[in-house]
Amino acid sequence: MQTLEKTHPKLAELKTRLTEINDINSAASLLHWDQATYMPAGGAAARGRQLATLGQIAHEKFTAPAIGQLLADLQTDRTSLPYDTDEASLIRITKREYDRAVKVPAEFVARFSHHRTECYGAWAKARPENNFAAVQPYLERMLELSREYANFFPGYEHIADPLIEDADYGMTANTVRSLFARLREELVPIVQSIASQPAIDDTCLRQHFPEDRQLAFSHQVIAQLGYDLQRGRQDKTLHPFMTKFSLGDVRITTRVYENHLAQALFSSIHETGHAMYEQGISPEFEATPLANGTSAGVHESQSRLWENLVGRSREFWQFFYPQLQAVFPTQLQDVSVETFYRAINKVERSLIRTDADEVTYNLHVAIRFELELQMLEGKLAVRDLPAAWNEGYRTALGIVPSSDSEGVMQDVHWYMGSIGGMFQGYTLGNLMSAQFFAAALQAHPEIPTQIQQGNFQTLLNWLQTNIYQHGCKYTPVELMQKATGNPLSIDPFISYIRQKYGEIY
Ligand code: ZN
Repeated sequence: MQTLEKTHPKLAELKTRLTEINDINSAASLLHWDQATYMPAGGAAARGRQLATLGQIAHEKFTAPAIGQLLADLQTDRTSLPYDTDEASLIRITKREYDRAVKVPAEFVARFSHHRTECYGAWAKARPENNFAAVQPYLERMLELSREYANFFPGYEHIADPLIEDADYGMTANTVRSLFARLREELVPIVQSIASQPAIDDTCLRQHFPEDRQLAFSHQVIAQLGYDLQRGRQDKTLHPFMTKFSLGDVRITTRVYENHLAQALFSSIHETGHAMYEQGISPEFEATPLANGTSAGVHESQSRLWENLVGRSREFWQFFYPQLQAVFPTQLQDVSVETFYRAINKVERSLIRTDADEVTYNLHVAIRFELELQMLEGKLAVRDLPAAWNEGYRTALGIVPSSDSEGVMQDVHWYMGSIGGMFQGYTLGNLMSAQFFAAALQAHPEIPTQIQQGNFQTLLNWLQTNIYQHGCKYTPVELMQKATGNPLSIDPFISYIRQKYGEIY
């Protein structure tokens, strides 16, 4: 790219403008990180305004006609460039994002953002009071705005498609719906069969584990996995997330429960997976639209791969368990590694998605995805949502929430994001994680033995080469094909689940 920049002034100008927009967005990310970690409560109102201002400036700058002109000129001048080159990819991806951004009026962006803040506030108050009626009018308005947003992209097959495409480019409501249908067919009998067996005893995880020692241990683990702490750090928050200010500064956050060991540990590994993806992006892409993970699903595939396929594997704990025992001798000295391994892989029909195990997790997501579609289709009114939610749980998992706080109000997504496009990425990520991991194992069958020795380098290198470095140069569909030689399939995930849990239960 360096040499081309010198020879092509329009590309240089485009990159200058994109860098400026990137800097505004990165500043907003830093304000958001601060809001979620260290900001005193008194800063909330001003912070909301500051974030909205930066968002508006970035949107205006990105949708400026000058950007459209530069992209049009570059596309004409550079038609001979091969698809795979960094330059052709930068022009292609920027044009794709530009074409979407200009379809949405700035006035709507502000109106939607304002409603999200209000709806979030109403939800935060209504949830602890178990008062769905209080949040219902806000959610009805959210549904209207989500439909209005979708209608800026006419020509869709299903009204959820534009919302899904924002998060998971190339996916549609119909393709995801059929993936979920097949998953349910496979998973529901597995869950039923596990539920008929004696429950696993996981009391070893539910003891007192002092916070400072939990944090010290998870820090040691994530450093060993390959998270570069010279280009990252971990802080505490309420709802863990990963954020990036540049390729040299990719941060994660975690939360600690002193009465449950698994929370901080696995959320740290999860966010580390997200962070290593971003840290692994080619430095050539810095400050351009290419310097991002390619979709919500592929991003989640990386967090789940490290959290579950690596972090909840027997090999992983053959290496780390003696270290964990040394950190918590009184709690764990009489607990065998096998007891611990079974405890962290306990399967349970539960109500809360974020605490769900690998086997039931996708059923939680399937319920939400189907409800989103039905609301957008006009087949389900918001006032009937709590009953539909409970019915979804009864059918898929055989349990029913005793309150809306544990039911329809448990996730923040519909109340601060949109209705549509919010949940499919979690399941796409789980499916992809198994497919990517299987491809890495096929290329390097020595990976499990290396994990047993605390060596993650071969796996990390494979992910770096096949996924991370490309940023969002390739669509999720292209990336899956290139990295694994096959289109996305539910089969690797199902055989992983059958093999692992067939042995545990
Ligand atoms: Zn995640």
